[in-house]
Amino acid sequence: MLENQVIAPENQVTALETMSEEQRQQAFPRLTDAQIARVAKFAARRHVNAGEVLVESGGKDMPFILVLSGSLEVLRCAIRGGQPGSQQIVVHGPGNFFGDMTMMTSRPSIVTARMKDAGEILVLDRKCLQEFVQNDAELGDIIIRAYVIRRVNLVKQGWGNALLIGSAFSAGTVRIKEFLERNGYPCAYMDLEKDESAEEFLNKMHVKASDIPVLICGKNKVLRNPTNQEVAECLGFNIGIDTDHMRDVVIVGAGPAGLSSAVYAASEGLKPLMVEMAVPGGQAGSSSKIENYLGFPTGISGTNLTYRATHQAEKFGVEMMITTKAMKLDCMKKPYAIEVDGGRKLMARAIVIATGAAYRKLPLTNLSDFEGTGIYYWATPMEAQLCQGQEVIVVGGGNSAGQAAIFLSAKAKHVHILIRADGLQSSMSRYLIRRIENTKNITVHANTEVTGIEGPAKGKLERIQWTNNKTGAVEIQEICHLFLMTGARPNTQWLDGCVAQDKQGFIKTGPALTPEDLTAARWPLARPPYFLETSLPGVFAVGDVRAGNMKRIASAVGEGSVAISLIHQVLAE
Ligand SMILES: Cc1cc2nc3c(=O)[nH]c(=O)nc-3n(C[C@H](O)[C@H](O)[C@H](O)COP(=O)(O)OP(=O)(O)OC[C@H]3O[C@@H](n4cnc5c(N)ncnc54)[C@H](O)[C@@H]3O)c2cc1C
Repeated sequence: MLENQVIAPENQVTALETMSEEQRQQAFPRLTDAQIARVAKFAARRHVNAGEVLVESGGKDMPFILVLSGSLEVLRCAIRGGQPGSQQIVVHGPGNFFGDMTMMTSRPSIVTARMKDAGEILVLDRKCLQEFVQNDAELGDIIIRAYVIRRVNLVKQGWGNALLIGSAFSAGTVRIKEFLERNGYPCAYMDLEKDESAEEFLNKMHVKASDIPVLICGKNKVLRNPTNQEVAECLGFNIGIDTDHMRDVVIVGAGPAGLSSAVYAASEGLKPLMVEMAVPGGQAGSSSKIENYLGFPTGISGTNLTYRATHQAEKFGVEMMITTKAMKLDCMKKPYAIEVDGGRKLMARAIVIATGAAYRKLPLTNLSDFEGTGIYYWATPMEAQLCQGQEVIVVGGGNSAGQAAIFLSAKAKHVHILIRADGLQSSMSRYLIRRIENTKNITVHANTEVTGIEGPAKGKLERIQWTNNKTGAVEIQEICHLFLMTGARPNTQWLDGCVAQDKQGFIKTGPALTPEDLTAARWPLARPPYFLETSLPGVFAVGDVRAGNMKRIASAVGEGSVAISLIHQVLAE
């Protein structure tokens, strides 16, 4: 019941008032008689009484409801005068339909649907709705667009069935806010520093201010500084996913490569299960602006791009287990099994490994404040343009650092290469060292490490401190571009030698597999491995985790889709 759930502080505005007219039309469309007739062919027709609760907040398996007559109100849990209660979000009349993106997944509802006036409704369950939106292109677009806009608005307003109480100065609060935001989950927020009633509210819940961040979710469950996994569990992110039956394909990692595989697999009739240890989006999700991905001439934020991709996957019925880490691949017998944390085993005929890579980072606490806006992990013409006429620092003694330094020296005023070792000889190719020596505006600082970065505000790097690790001498430079070229480490530890890897641990596929690799792996088939296939038949590697991959979003997305067409061939063998 609504009264059993404490949630957001009441807000006076309704969803309709916060939207533009165009958005309102798209978010709450009124279907025509002809469109209603198309839904009616697949739906159950019901008479409903005033006050009847059709969907409860926190309830599972919410259906698609189209109002034929009468009216249906959508309510969220809210605090009114310090007491739990409910607040109306919108009222649906004849021709309107109820729901948001949650309906495309098995997750619990975040709102309540109650009949305001008695009438007639059409009801479709989730499975029917998923088929319907895929088969009826016009209505599919109308429904998915409405659901996405409604969800974006709920997130913007913080209108969900959870309440976070924290402080902008608490790292745990920032982590949970980011986790919920990257999952597109609406959550009300009370800031102890800004909201006088927050402390009073905590007292009522018998929670100390020192326990923040505090998340109230489910049926008044109070979580004190929960892990992301505990948050996901309380909000039911992984609820209702069948982990017992064997899948055609399990995809590990929900970065661009994994999401692309999932969309192509599900849209081409496979029933994929996706496993992601953190949140969908991968590295791309943390990029503030992606300017080189086709189709977005003014760029798109990583969160936005991966948010869209996640909804696209949900539309096609992809099931996604998040905050679930693949711990081990059981590759000794077929079908393969992936052991995930918690001990469950996921059986699959084919597997896509899309676990990406993690750039080696500097151990500086405020590093993430400047990533993409002063700290870069690669040097393309775009970054070079940003550094025009300014001093830059390149950290690293390998070939990628050398290439970046030479490339940047054409635009930058001066390039400082910082290396921990005594010199470049042991780590960089001779030809690059010669070029660096012959380039006047490059200086190599041996035995030097970055020990601090500063800026007046998040996202604006202004000063860099470096320290000589032999003499201890410290220098502070007014430099605002730092290139970290210290290499990337593939996320392959969990594979424990099941597939052939190169020296750095990246997974070898197709033509990169030598006869020796295949002999060592006891490749059992007459045919050679397909282009993206590893040394284990039916196990594919795509994106950054693959040896020879371009380490770009476009190549990750491309490989994700190609792997699925190859999996169709494997499943037919
Ligand atoms: C800050 C930043 C900005 C960038 N900007 C651009 C750009 O502008 N343009 C561009 O083309 N490229 C950019 N890149 C590179 C691009 O993001 C990557 O090439 C791309 O994300 C690789 O996609 P992927 O799916 O292969 O791997 P990832 O994005 O790394 O995704 C891998 C996923 O697998 C998950 N995972 C790892 N191990 C496990 C496990 N054991 N179990 C379950 N899940 C696991 C991870 O949590 C992650 O979500 C940027 C990268 C960063 C870090």
